[in-house]
Amino acid sequence: MLQLEPTAQDCIAALAELVKFDTTSRNSNLELINFVQSELSAIGIKSRLTFDEQKTKANLWATIGPDIEGGVVLSGHTDVVPVDGQNWSSDPLELTERDGRLFARGTCDMKGFVACAFAHAQAMAKAELKVPVHFAFSYDEEVGCVGVQGLIKDMQENLPKPLAVIVGEPTSMQIVGAHKGGEAV
Ligand SMILES: [Zn+2]
Repeated sequence: MLQLEPTAQDCIAALAELVKFDTTSRNSNLELINFVQSELSAIGIKSRLTFDEQKTKANLWATIGPDIEGGVVLSGHTDVVPVDGQNWSSDPLELTERDGRLFARGTCDMKGFVACAFAHAQAMAKAELKVPVHFAFSYDEEVGCVGVQGLIKDMQENLPKPLAVIVGEPTSMQIVGAHKGGEAV
């Protein structure tokens, strides 16, 4: 499914796959992560996982291009908020196009970004990058950004330091250069 020259349709196809996984934060995200990992593996991109204590959820880290310091991280969370009690007019786990818009839980926040990054993996791999592009796909963002902490620890201890991170949260296509932070005390 990962094309050498991905089109918008290829990104939408990737999104259609990702929204099928019910990764509401209370659920495991491993089926989604395993799907992404195996698709990346099929085109020769290695990835590593950091798990929660119960091993029911994981973050995925993958590096495309040289294994050196620098490069840009494309970061997105894989979990979504619940649909409980909401009046959906189509199946939230099935991508549906209406009036030029794509509907399903997480299309915007934020499997759309993850799908676009993922769909371009093979193109990036073939581009002979001078600096790396990294994928950081996390869990448990919607419940307080707690899942990514294991990945950040792994990055600090075991991985070359990237130059910058692009977090693909929905901002109506406006660049948001900073965000309130959090500090563990
Ligand atoms: Zn989000």
